[in-house]
Amino acid sequence: MRHKEIIDELSLEEKCALLQGATAFGSWQNERAGIPSVQFSDGPNGVRHQAGAADHLGLNGSEPATCFPTAVTVANSWDEALAERVGEAMGAEAASQGVDVLLGPGLCIKRNPLCGRNFEYFSEDPLVAGKMAAAYVRGIQENGIAACPKHFAVNSQETRRQASNSIVDERTLREIYLAGFETVVRHSAPKTIMSSYNLVNGTYANENEHLLKGILRDEWGFGGAVVTDWGGSNDHAAGVAVGSTFEMPAPGLGSVRELLAAVAAGTLSEADIDERVDEVIELASTVHPAVLAAPSSFDAEAHHALAREAATEGCVLLKNDPTAGGSPLLPLAAGTGVALIGDFAKTPRYQGAGSSAVNSTKVDSLLDLIGETSLDFKGYEPGFERHGGNNDQLKNAALKLAKAADVAILALALDEIAESEGADRTGMALNDNQVELLRDVTAVNPNVVVLLSAGSCVESDWMSDAPAVLYCALGGQAGAGAALDIVTGNVCPSGKLTETWPRRLADVPSSAAFPSDEKQAQYREGIYVGYRYFDTAGVDVAFPFGHGLSYTTFAYGNLEASERDVTFTVTNTGKVAGAEVAQVYVAKPEHEVFRAAQELAGFARIELAPGESKVVTIPLTSRSFAYFNTQTNAWETEGGEYELRVSASSRDVRLIARVTLEGTGAPNPYAGRDVSAYESADVLSVSDASFKALLGHAIPAEGAAIGRNMCFRDLNHGRSPIFWIVWLVLKGIKSRADKAGKPNLNVLFIWNMPLRALAKMTNGMVNMRMVDALVMEIRGFWIIGILRFIVEFVVNLIQNAILSSKIASASKK
Ligand code: BGC
Repeated sequence: MRHKEIIDELSLEEKCALLQGATAFGSWQNERAGIPSVQFSDGPNGVRHQAGAADHLGLNGSEPATCFPTAVTVANSWDEALAERVGEAMGAEAASQGVDVLLGPGLCIKRNPLCGRNFEYFSEDPLVAGKMAAAYVRGIQENGIAACPKHFAVNSQETRRQASNSIVDERTLREIYLAGFETVVRHSAPKTIMSSYNLVNGTYANENEHLLKGILRDEWGFGGAVVTDWGGSNDHAAGVAVGSTFEMPAPGLGSVRELLAAVAAGTLSEADIDERVDEVIELASTVHPAVLAAPSSFDAEAHHALAREAATEGCVLLKNDPTAGGSPLLPLAAGTGVALIGDFAKTPRYQGAGSSAVNSTKVDSLLDLIGETSLDFKGYEPGFERHGGNNDQLKNAALKLAKAADVAILALALDEIAESEGADRTGMALNDNQVELLRDVTAVNPNVVVLLSAGSCVESDWMSDAPAVLYCALGGQAGAGAALDIVTGNVCPSGKLTETWPRRLADVPSSAAFPSDEKQAQYREGIYVGYRYFDTAGVDVAFPFGHGLSYTTFAYGNLEASERDVTFTVTNTGKVAGAEVAQVYVAKPEHEVFRAAQELAGFARIELAPGESKVVTIPLTSRSFAYFNTQTNAWETEGGEYELRVSASSRDVRLIARVTLEGTGAPNPYAGRDVSAYESADVLSVSDASFKALLGHAIPAEGAAIGRNMCFRDLNHGRSPIFWIVWLVLKGIKSRADKAGKPNLNVLFIWNMPLRALAKMTNGMVNMRMVDALVMEIRGFWIIGILRFIVEFVVNLIQNAILSSKIASASKK
């Protein structure tokens, strides 16, 4: 232990108090022992520090900060150095606002395009997600403060997010859902990590011994603090015992009493508490001095410029067809007469809703900046209603303007309701009115450039109407300037997709049951997420993983490869400077243990002047070839020949080398089990028998319906009229907000919240025993339930008062 002397001086009550929040974003302090309160703040694409009333959903105002492009955008740059600079700038802003721990980056795997928080995450591929997240962490922590990569783990849907049980086989867990976190822990040493709301194979992530103790701490060597997601603790004592440090936000003293009771009952050892307290002291004593020493302001203009650079690198040119003149429509020459169309040109969609929402220092719009470009601006029309619906007047005005211009620039987007924390998307399509407007505009002027803002992929049939489509993702506060830099050719586009864009939602293997509305989310598709599925099953896609066009061209050559690295030359064969993102995939066409057709093993972003060549070396490790063997419980390598494919996208292989490996000689873990569905990636609809064979055991049964973990959305299944009314009121507010086009995040949170979270988020007003009384009420013991609640309420008040004065007098100097 690093702080034994201090810990020995603390009473058990004081120690237990340190393991939780005292306010929405601050931990307990102990004046006597000199342990300051640790201040946490979101989030992943900029600081959301609430100086006044704090909440975890971004509802109340926060101090101005730079809204950097969200993770999806920066990931598309594949530029780790850029991600590190963004992280460093965010960390500097955090420190200047007194924030010790910045709650980000988010690196959950994009399992399905409908996950409402995909915009906060990097990729469907764990290598990209892990490397980009590690770069953020390094950058943030360069300021002496802590980063908090999240949400650990297997947290890929928002529906029932606080109580969804992710059922996943061990190999998929390791290869897909944990590998990114492993990279982060091993390569950037984050000082904290956030456990996710959900259960993993029947146990809450925050109290999952396999995840927190077995893998995170013992195997990967994580020595920092594990922080629960806000309201994500189910049983604090169980969490502390397996390595969870802070219960957030402010559960009140009920949690402290639970820890004390667990120690008294012998289910939690004081040694475990001491370990966790050691983590708290280590964190507080390393990050807090850095925050105190940090300048109290930051260079907002420089950070805005960095946000613009990041947004520019993150733009992906999806399509750029030749027009009547024979050359591609983009870039637009100086003096081109342009009509700017689309509500999003004036009011950009540049970040997501929820805990990541930043109060931007300023926000650029296309309309504000177009006059500063070399283009001849002919006028602006909104063209459509932002949240859907017909408006002929808006449309006709836009058509008139488009007709009079050389080129129409259309700003299309997913609106705010389409993707948000707390809710999954209901479909992959853009609003009809936008698609119709595009079709009508192209009928009067075929020279259309679409600038698309969305945090995740959309259906793209409409793109056949537009010769040029630039995917701007969610570009942050400076995203407009970034898009214009590319449209005008100031910057050559270099972003590439870090998620596959399927043709149809139904093509995605998890779609049959995504999001899962049941208590369990069964990850039946196994390892076949994103390109691993599409490339193995040979399914046509709209845009492959790694796809992105440029204004120049690149040639690849001179490949040399071994099992340690791949070396090749990339040459800019075009007329403008540009950057190429080269990718190396590993394939093993002949194999015994099923595997994806190819897997990303490395990548590099190479900047090249016209005519310039550079030699690129991408290192490989034994893990580049390995799979997780559930029988030996280790990473193993099959012997034999592997292909190393140097590619411009997962479907654009430029060079192939072959290497032969000896292999580790491990037994086939699936011997004797029928995993043929996984051998052929036939996973669109996996039978119970196949899933069972993959899991290696029976599919677990769902738990009881009514209990502490019953969600508010299920209260209509209880037997309490009071809670039926609560349910009806919540449902009514939710539907009204959805219809109005503005998600009510508060209600969404409560909708997916289990009853026990009442005891975790009310700062001691409600405790677990009171939750148990509510459960009685819902089970139909009406009078007894209510009476018990009242008694427990009074007992809780008295117990809180006693414990509070005990801790206060002990911890004062
Ligand atoms: C989110 C976290 C966030 C936390 C604090 C939760 O609802 O899931 O990502 O960091 O709130 O705002």
